[in-house]
Amino acid sequence: MDLSAFGLSGKTVLVTGANTGIGQGIALSIGRAGGKVIGVGRSSMEQTASLMAEQGAEFVELRADLGSTAAAQAMFETAWAEHGPIDGLVNNAGIIKRVDAVEFTEDDWDSVMDVNLKTMFFLCQAIGKRAIEAGRQGRIVNIASMLSFQGGIRVASYTASKSGVLGITRLLANEWAAKGINVNAVAPGYIETNNTEALRNDPDRSASILGRIPAARWGCRAISGMPWCFFSHPLPTTCTAPLSPSMAAGSRGN
Ligand code: NAP
Repeated sequence: MDLSAFGLSGKTVLVTGANTGIGQGIALSIGRAGGKVIGVGRSSMEQTASLMAEQGAEFVELRADLGSTAAAQAMFETAWAEHGPIDGLVNNAGIIKRVDAVEFTEDDWDSVMDVNLKTMFFLCQAIGKRAIEAGRQGRIVNIASMLSFQGGIRVASYTASKSGVLGITRLLANEWAAKGINVNAVAPGYIETNNTEALRNDPDRSASILGRIPAARWGCRAISGMPWCFFSHPLPTTCTAPLSPSMAAGSRGN
């Protein structure tokens, strides 16, 4: 899809978890809209780098384990010093633990909350601080989930973290709107990525989920880039805090 109308030329957007899945789709969309992407993650971004190069888009890779807030903050400082200024941030990296609530361990809780919520917040803080100090506009898109709205089953820390993503998005939008920093969220439905592999491989859960999705299919990871590009664009200066549910609308799923 031609996304050049979103005009991100000259803009640099940091995308976490850009090596695969939705994050790779976001990076490619931003690239198609003319933006430069700093892909951040703990795994090689070779495939994303080569897909970005194929479409003539600028891409740099930075390694960081986002389970550590200190590592994430250090990565951001390096990114700003070596590739900045950074205009936008997409907090996409995330993990899920599927365990019955009665069996849930402290590690199942902490590991998910650390990546999905704690690091997400401190990366928002890092770009927010820089933008406010420099009097620059900033654009932040956080990846929430349908489970920001629904309880789901067997995913206690994931549901807690994604509900937190929704709350923090609203709080930061309130605090920063007047300073020119827009904070939005996108809540994908069920997408065919590593995150949903266990569900797709379970015939009962798969049938149950697909039965609640009007299109009766898993969403494609190369999904429309419009939400990320729209929210990253410098023009919609008053668009802050809405949460855009996307893909598989109508699902009541868990
Ligand atoms: P995915 O393919 O598993 O991608 C998750 C990404 O996060 C990967 O790049 C992964 O890197 C990265 N990541 C995880 N832990 C990390 C860590 N400690 N440090 C650095 N990077 C880390 O799943 P996805 O579906 O694309 O998920 C992307 C986002 O969408 C997540 O926030 C997820 O919760 C959200 N989401 C997904 C769905 C869905 O149906 N798939 C629905 C709603 C929301 P590695 O490859 O190295 O693990």
